[in-house]
Amino acid sequence: MLFVIGCFSTTEDSSDSYKKESKKEIKKTLYNIELGDVFIEKKTIKKGENVGEILYRNNINFPKIDKIAKLSKQIFDLRDVKAGGNYTLIFNDSINRNPHYFIYEINKVDFLVAQLKDTTNVYLGKKPVLIKEKTGSGIINSSLWFAMEESNLSAKLVNILADEIYPWTIDFFRLKPGDKFKIIYDAKYVDGEFIGVGKVHAALFNSNNTEHYAIAFNEVEGFEDYFDEHGNNLRKFFLKAPVSFTRISSRFTNKRKHPVTGRWKGHFGTDFAAPIGTPIYSTADGEITEVSYNRYNGYYVKIRHNSTYTTQYLHMDKSSKKIWAKKKIKKGKKVKQGVDIIGYVGRSGQATGPHVCYRFWKNGKQVDPFRTKLPPSNPVKKSKKNEFEKEKNIWLNKLAIINYPNEYLDVDSLETITMKH
Ligand SMILES: [Zn+2]
Repeated sequence: MLFVIGCFSTTEDSSDSYKKESKKEIKKTLYNIELGDVFIEKKTIKKGENVGEILYRNNINFPKIDKIAKLSKQIFDLRDVKAGGNYTLIFNDSINRNPHYFIYEINKVDFLVAQLKDTTNVYLGKKPVLIKEKTGSGIINSSLWFAMEESNLSAKLVNILADEIYPWTIDFFRLKPGDKFKIIYDAKYVDGEFIGVGKVHAALFNSNNTEHYAIAFNEVEGFEDYFDEHGNNLRKFFLKAPVSFTRISSRFTNKRKHPVTGRWKGHFGTDFAAPIGTPIYSTADGEITEVSYNRYNGYYVKIRHNSTYTTQYLHMDKSSKKIWAKKKIKKGKKVKQGVDIIGYVGRSGQATGPHVCYRFWKNGKQVDPFRTKLPPSNPVKKSKKNEFEKEKNIWLNKLAIINYPNEYLDVDSLETITMKH
């Protein structure tokens, strides 16, 4: 059974006042160009249309168009403009239509300016990105996972929680209805429009009535990690799964004699069902010991992590051979946890459907990684402990006042919270 974020909320703040401000600014400058008494035309590139045609139509001669094409080549090839992309022409007057500038929006942030009057010049510019700290919360309900797509923002945030913050801590394959989270993140805006999620500062995931805190902290300069409230790094020796967000189709079971048939049955792996072609990652740093094929395992990879732990990944798709060749995935190759693709999900060998069978050895014995005590994580360094405690308290206080969706917060409890901090 799969579960989904059913409820999602973000706190609204002063984005209206921001919009007003930016409108005022637009009157004076556009794409950092000082505007006087000008005439602006904003259009989108039509299918099959190219920049040369647009400029020619607007009274720019061929030698100039050629010069612009040559100048822009080094910074952005104008042949790469996309149909539907926004462009702007700035004229001095609406009668003669001699544009001073042509601007193409490469994406929501970057743009290209072709200066057409006086000296011909081409340069790149960036729109200012406004970053605002936002909060959100969600509750898992029993709907199907893919229904989550309805809300792009919650999908993005849950993917960050699953893949970047909690892949070592929470078994996302075992979420239950009622599991819930709170999150504090940066939202990025351009011209008052939301363009994406930036950094996640802190989160609280309540899974199976256990609270898991995550606080972003730079323990090493320039390298951010997530720590729990006791200062333990959430990054662990092993990831919970070799594939992102799918589902477990079969769990590890011990070998036992079937009471009727007398045959020995068991499943010494955890099966993660996923579409063919889903990338498979090593669950821990290690060295490859085997890259092979046989009629039972199909295409498979085996990795030794240290003297205690070894893992194996079965039933890979034949297309894995391409990445094996390209990334030199073979005996002796060192791989990074969650970074290096070691193959793709398939159904090779004895497999009924597309999945990866994940096998786990501890001291030479096959065990269930979900029921085995695994190596702990390291706490924040002593020299950084005070700094961490200070930052932690700020985020814990901020998390405490976020409500879960549909939770009614009455005035009394609000006062209690306010007084507490
Ligand atoms: Zn299996």
